[in-house]
This record gives sequence, C-alpha cells and structure tokens, in this order.
Amino acid sequence: MTCRIAVFGTGYLGATHAACMAELGHEVVGVDVDSAKLAKLESGELPFYEPELAELLQKNIKDGRLRFSSSYADAADFADVHFIGVGTPQKRGEFGADLTYVNSVIEELAPLLSRPAVIFGKSTVPVGTAMKLAQRVKQLAPAGVDVEVAWNPEFLREGFAVADTLHPDRIVLGTDKFRAGRAEEVARKVYEQPLAEGIPFLVTDLSTAELVKTAANAFLATKISFINAMSEVCEAAGADVSFLADAIGYDARIGRRFLNAGIGFGGGCLPKDIRAFMARAGEIGADEALTFLREVDNINMRRRTRMVEIARQSTGGSLIGARVAVLGAAFKPDSDDVRDSPALNIAGQIQLQGASVSVFDPKAMDNSRRIFPTLNYATSVEEACEGADVVLVLTEWREFRDLEPNEIAGVVRRKQVIDGRNCLDPQKWRSADWSYRALGRP
Ligand code: NAD
Repeated sequence: MTCRIAVFGTGYLGATHAACMAELGHEVVGVDVDSAKLAKLESGELPFYEPELAELLQKNIKDGRLRFSSSYADAADFADVHFIGVGTPQKRGEFGADLTYVNSVIEELAPLLSRPAVIFGKSTVPVGTAMKLAQRVKQLAPAGVDVEVAWNPEFLREGFAVADTLHPDRIVLGTDKFRAGRAEEVARKVYEQPLAEGIPFLVTDLSTAELVKTAANAFLATKISFINAMSEVCEAAGADVSFLADAIGYDARIGRRFLNAGIGFGGGCLPKDIRAFMARAGEIGADEALTFLREVDNINMRRRTRMVEIARQSTGGSLIGARVAVLGAAFKPDSDDVRDSPALNIAGQIQLQGASVSVFDPKAMDNSRRIFPTLNYATSVEEACEGADVVLVLTEWREFRDLEPNEIAGVVRRKQVIDGRNCLDPQKWRSADWSYRALGRP
C-alpha cells in the first residue's frame, strides 16, 4: 500500500530515508531549510557521498515518486506520514544534544496539519524528548486534528546506508502508551516490504525506543574503546592486539565485529551520542550509571594523541620541519563525512607541532577543505606522499589497504608507514623494506 510521506532534513539520514521510502513504492517529499542541498537533490545529485544512493535518488525522481521542497505547507498538505530526520548535534561547550532543529520541525509543521497524521521521529534524541514533542504537538495542531508522535530510531551506518534502510536488522517503534493511536498500524504500512522479509518489528513506549538507540551507540563505543584499552596494554606488554581481537572474537558472546583497534571512533554520531547520553542521565538522576562512558570517551581521545606521539617518534622526537603524508580524512571509509574525524584531528595536531602535512582522501576532500582549510590537500596518494618522512594511514579505504609499498617507495623521503587502523599487511610492508608501525602491535 502506498503512503504519502514527508521527510524533514535531507542529510545523511533524511536523504537516504526519503530515497529508500520511494524505492519501497511510497510517494515522498524531502524537506530541508538548506536551499543549495535541495537544488542538488532535485537535480538527482547527492550533496554527500554514499554508495548506491545516487542511483536510487535518480531512479525514484524519474519515476515520479520522489521530490524535494523547502515548503512545510507543501509537505503538510501532501503527506499523512512525517519523518523527522534533522540533526541533533552536540551543544557548543556542553555535552547535551542541541534539540533546536527537532523542535523547529514540530513548531512549523504541527500548526499546518489539517488532517490526521503521524509524526515519526528518526533523529537520535535524549530520552524524554518524544514525550515533550507529543505534548507540544497537542498544543499546536489545529483543534480536532489528530496528530500522533511516535519514535522510530535509525540505526543505519554511513557507507551501508541504503542496505541498512531497506533491510535493517530490526525496526524499533516507540508509541505513546497513554493514547490509542494509529502509529503502529501506519508503521506497518510504511515498512510493509521489509516486514514481509521477516525483519523483527519491536514495538515499545516512547522512552524505551529513544533509549534503544542511545544504548546501542553507547555499547558500540564501549566495544571500540575496550579493544583500544587492550591495545594500550598490548603496547606496554609487547603483545599484538589484532591477534588478541581475532582470538577473543571467536567467542560468540564477544564477536569479532567492532573490535578493530586503532585511532578510535569519530563521526557525527558516536562521540556526540555518548556525551548527550551522559548529560541526560545526569538530568534524570542516573548519572552514576553512565560514569564508565566518560572513560570510554577518554580512551577514545587518547588514541589520537598516541598516534601523534608515534608520528613524532618516527621523525626523531620532533615534528618541526618534517613532511607527513596523511592518507584518509573521512571518519570512516566509504563516506565523505568528516564530522569529528580522528584523521583530521590528528593531521591538525601534527601540523600544529610544526610538520608540513599533506592529506589525501578519495571522497572527503571538499568537506575537509571546508572544515580544516589550513591543511594542505593533495590530489592523489602519490602527491600526498611526495617527499614524506612518514606516511600515516588514518582511514581504512580499500585503495589504501590495497596499496603496494613499491608504488610509493620512489616518492617518499623515508620508507616509514604508521597504520592507524591496523588495516595494512605488516608482512607486505616490511618485506618491501619499509618500517611498519601500528597501534597495539609490536
Ligand atoms: P545531517 O547534518 O547530515 O542532516 C541534517 C539536515 O537537517 C541538514 O540537511 C539540515 O539542513 C536539515 N535541517 C536542519 N533544520 C531543519 C528544519 N527545521 N527543517 C528541515 N530540515 C532541517 O545529519 P545526519 O547525519 O543526517 O543526522 C540526522 C539525525 O540522524 C541525527 O540525530 C543523527 O544522530 C541521526 N542519525 C544519523 C546517522 C548517520 O549515520 N548519519 C545514523 C543514525 C542516526
């Protein structure tokens, strides 16, 4: 059954959700306040890099199921189902989440609704937000118009966003238990196709749904920081964290995924989400429960300093005047997202210590230039490595993992590589006469 859907916010989450909902056969309008972004999307061009998404966007625009608009009135008039996918960044100078954008969607949309509608929140929000928004909608919606707020947290991974949206591991829905609403019925229509594949559909209250998302991210961040803490111990003991991760990962209770030691996590989600979670826990009197997340954050940030330290050691104890090649700028491969990117943070620290840094990333150059205009950017791996005293691999793009040491041996000044993601084959580099170092490996 076809639904008429509006998606507010057309960033990584919203644009993906809008295109995927159209792919499922629904009629969709994507709404944003950024007119440049809308113009690109309307012409079938993605304002960011995400594998497989451009094809979906173009196909569904062409087939007439997907369009974009800056008008809330247009969206309110067109759709019966509304998804909120705007950003919830970290507040400036605080741990808490900035809910300005989520609030403004509700403030603008609710008064314009003239027939029954369901608003599904997808953005990651602190527990208690949905209930507040539901109360606000009750005040703002015209009298007699039944508008329900439900929460449907998003778990997509950048780089796999399309597959994760069309075939998620599970669909979680939080509904307002104090009213007999239609949210579950509407969600079943929207997700009819994935649900027919047998994807688990978990329906709960609003607070639990919000917490499922923050708890999932807290767990993932903890898993990464756990292996990075083991990496610190391995370094002190002369042991090998990659072997250790493989060996403990065979235990099905532990699992090998998300156990890659390296320079740690970044991006627009994990760092700000664990901080917002700690801040919210404090507000509701549960701060003690999450004190461990502060350590998770500390371990993560220490990885960046450690990487700078190893780079400094490789250039004889001082980075002044050294030439450093940085391969990778995105916070993870297959994405152009540089929000809180460990790679750019490390590149910036190294430059501040007096080195000349040259950065190359297959997709994240434009975003990097915008956020870090003072770094030097190269147009290829070879150019970045020209005259380098040391090469740092900071994002595990396939093209870096597959790099042949001999291809760049001729351009560097010294054959030294530091593997910030434990993604290279040490044997291959050492046998090509390179000095190879990694975090947590002898
Ligand atoms: P983003 O910054 O890429 O996109 C947010 C978009 O919202 C921007 O295009 C912005 O212009 C738009 N916007 C802001 N105010 C608006 C308004 N009033 N009306 C309409 N549009 C407005 O952010 P994102 O990465 O897509 O994240 C969005 C939310 O999804 C966040 O809460 C994030 O935590 C969550 N999330 C993100 C991912 C991910 O991998 N990116 C995964 C799961 C959940």
